[in-house]
Amino acid sequence: MEKILLHTCCAPCSASTITLLQEYEIVSLWFNPNIYPLKEHLARYDTWNKYMDLLNIQKMEIKADWLDNETKYEDLWLNDAVKCDKGRCYYCYLKRLEKTVETAKQTGIKNFSTTLLSSPYQKHDVIKQMCEELAEKNGLNFVYVDPRKIHYDGVHKIKKLGLYSQRYCGCKLSIR
Ligand code: SF4
Repeated sequence: MEKILLHTCCAPCSASTITLLQEYEIVSLWFNPNIYPLKEHLARYDTWNKYMDLLNIQKMEIKADWLDNETKYEDLWLNDAVKCDKGRCYYCYLKRLEKTVETAKQTGIKNFSTTLLSSPYQKHDVIKQMCEELAEKNGLNFVYVDPRKIHYDGVHKIKKLGLYSQRYCGCKLSIR
């Protein structure tokens, strides 16, 4: 089985995405510096950990720079995101996907994908195009899947397991 590095934004989105990647040996990468505040960040991280362990999926994680001091969140993440001329969500996708591609190259994994493709609330076509461009630029294979139709099956799966499921996208501005 070939390996795939799967950028994982959260457990509920991973539950649907993983069912479409059964032909690969998945390595799940946690890199989500957008998620605020710390309490929420750790709740989603903990759920990701538990769910991946339950599925026996290998995990990799890259911690956000501001985790040791929540007051640094705006300086180390949000301010740059809101300054992005293509919008803060574009920045948010790009930073996480660039890190995914960088990690894939460092670890010698040729395939990558992202659970960001699952939620109907995300800009699916922007994410798809970004992944295609990053793949071409970096000589990697982007595995495209469209889990949107089964997204809520994944959310229900997580809830049924008694695991935490979030109520907003992630950044400070998305809380309201
Ligand atoms: S709304 Fe979601 S995708 Fe957009 S910047 Fe905030 S966390 Fe990122």
